Amino acid sequence: MPLVSMRQLLDEAAKGGYGVGAFNVNNMEQIQAIMEAAKETKSPVIIQASRGARQFAQDRYLYHLMLAAAELYPEIPIAMHQDHGNSFETCKSAIELGFTSVMMDGSLKEDGKTPTTFEENVEITRRVVDYAHERGITVEGEIGVLGGVEDGHGAGGTGLEHITDPDQAVEFAERTGVDALAIAIGTSHGAYKFTKKPDGSVLKMDVLIEIHKRLPKTHLVMHGSSSVPKELQDIINQYGGKLKETWGVPVEEIQLGIRNGVRKINVDTDNRLAITGAIRKVLVETPEKFDPRDYMKPAREAMKKVVALRMTQFGQAGHAGDYKQLPIEEIRKGYASGALDTRPSVVGSR
Ligand SMILES: [Zn+2]
Repeated sequence: MPLVSMRQLLDEAAKGGYGVGAFNVNNMEQIQAIMEAAKETKSPVIIQASRGARQFAQDRYLYHLMLAAAELYPEIPIAMHQDHGNSFETCKSAIELGFTSVMMDGSLKEDGKTPTTFEENVEITRRVVDYAHERGITVEGEIGVLGGVEDGHGAGGTGLEHITDPDQAVEFAERTGVDALAIAIGTSHGAYKFTKKPDGSVLKMDVLIEIHKRLPKTHLVMHGSSSVPKELQDIINQYGGKLKETWGVPVEEIQLGIRNGVRKINVDTDNRLAITGAIRKVLVETPEKFDPRDYMKPAREAMKKVVALRMTQFGQAGHAGDYKQLPIEEIRKGYASGALDTRPSVVGSR
């Protein structure tokens, strides 16, 4: 099967009441780790690449690795998503390359760090939605600004400076017609999210719950949602690393989100930690080794374990075979006919 629409994956997740992890990749081993985890847990998957990843791996390599995954695991629905597109051109080039979904992060200007006005965000996102939907491609937008910086993209800060305003989220969904919406509820990108274990008073879950009530058909996305487990930090530090003490987003908070409309959960840091810990362990314990396979194999295995665990925790496990993978052309027709329109005014009048 070719790559499928992210919209289809998320619609199915909404029907089944589960979330789908979106895992970032830069190379072959990370794609292999995700696919093996998906096979083991029978999960549909979203694989995403940031602008930094596209630059690091080169577009053609990434795309063909993804096609190899689709060829090797035809039973698993795979969507390929552009993470944090910073401009119309970035999204257009991803679509031309064969991505089946793009994020237009219009919450920041093209420099990837200066917050935009609401109107600027609506305008650029609407433009990407028009272009993408005409081609059957899914669009994720962002309203509010996340904390931290990821691959050079982000406004920095703690994530609490620009919490999403539910009224703005509703107006944004209405005026752009996005399929999925990333909202800022206090999460940040990167490893250093919180300096103590966060609870309901830190993450604005009430904001998330209200937005879902008012936008029942728009799939919510949680960014910066690695859990940054202490065990993974410990392995790195045990073998010579120097990570400072830090906390991520507890899985229970993500699961509460999933019960309230979160369908896509972005995870990158946990996998980075798993890979780095495994590599450090091999190099420290057996310093005579120099074959990259000696440490890439355990690194891949460590990432697979984390991904498989998240797939189980998010509830996507067991759902790979629930539905027939639709060609992108079918999705394109759905947008053209209005059947896939998620705008609140349209949904409300149905
Ligand atoms: Zn993000």
